[in-house]
Amino acid sequence: MSQMPRRQFLKLAGSLMASLGWLAACRPGPSQTATSAVQPTPAAPQATQSSDRTGSPILTVPEVADALRALSNGQAALLWLHGQACSGCSVSFLNAAYPDVASVLTQHISVDYHATLSAAAGLTAWQALNARVTAGNYLLVVEGAVPAGIPGACQVGDEPFTQLLTRAAQRATAIVALGTCAAFGGVPAAPPNPTGAISVAKFLGTKLGHTPLITLPGCPAHPDWLVGTLVHLLKAGVPPLTEDLSPAMFYGAVIHERCPQFHQYNTGQYARFFGDSGCLFNLGCLGIRTYADCSIRRWNNHVNWCVEAGAPCIGCARPEFAADPAFPFYRIREQSS
Ligand code: SF4
Ligand code: SF4
Repeated sequence: MSQMPRRQFLKLAGSLMASLGWLAACRPGPSQTATSAVQPTPAAPQATQSSDRTGSPILTVPEVADALRALSNGQAALLWLHGQACSGCSVSFLNAAYPDVASVLTQHISVDYHATLSAAAGLTAWQALNARVTAGNYLLVVEGAVPAGIPGACQVGDEPFTQLLTRAAQRATAIVALGTCAAFGGVPAAPPNPTGAISVAKFLGTKLGHTPLITLPGCPAHPDWLVGTLVHLLKAGVPPLTEDLSPAMFYGAVIHERCPQFHQYNTGQYARFFGDSGCLFNLGCLGIRTYADCSIRRWNNHVNWCVEAGAPCIGCARPEFAADPAFPFYRIREQSS
């Protein structure tokens, strides 16, 4: 992994903060030197520095630069496990705008183990994974649901995922359930759920102890949500969370309230068919019930998002997504009042 000079980390931190919308909340603070200590262990859960309703963090550019540097040089280790997942959240992460995909992999984030991104394979990867779990003190990202009904499924080496997750969770400093499958069960938990798929939180239950768990739902999750959460964990502790344990800075407001079609909704201008202008409510939009910041963050390097592309929000960040037949992907002929 190449080492970047601090100046480059500062530049990267600036673009990351702009991308996350954190620059407006920047506080003036003493610049940190290149030798400033970065705590590899995330701060205590209560140690939050956020202030407003959606919890915009108050971090300086140097603080964010230090967090990125810790992620890149292994000071802040990252372990990434897969349960019942399509790897879409990994693909989404690789679509992060800052920096480009190759840089994420080769320069900026030290992922000690990832089933598809690790350069090592076979026994070498297995040994790297075990060495990291034994050493402890890492951030654990879990992608995918837990096959609780088939405890021997999703093996890594000869160890079932349920066993590996239990072991890895015990030594993690914080756990991030990435994507709706890990956060709530998602597609693998859709009825009749033959594998008994459940969320990471439900599986770990009391085994979690005092280890903080953060959910980042979305099918897939936006790369900003993961990178922003990791940086916050490293520099300001666990961010303020919603009742679903999601960072309020990303999931604190309903999509509908910040949708560019909000005025059309209020004035009864509804699209009658796909491609028509107007609010997509009558075409089944679930933005009215979904908490996420897609409408202001946008996807694919902040270029566009579902509604502006003409597709109703299907509530992919909702707890019921795929799992509850009462919330199908698409609804038709629903009335607005
Ligand atoms: S398109 Fe969806 S999110 Fe936007 S205003 Fe209409 S119902 Fe709300
Ligand atoms: S707008 Fe809705 S369906 Fe689209 S990514 Fe956001 S939460 Fe998912």
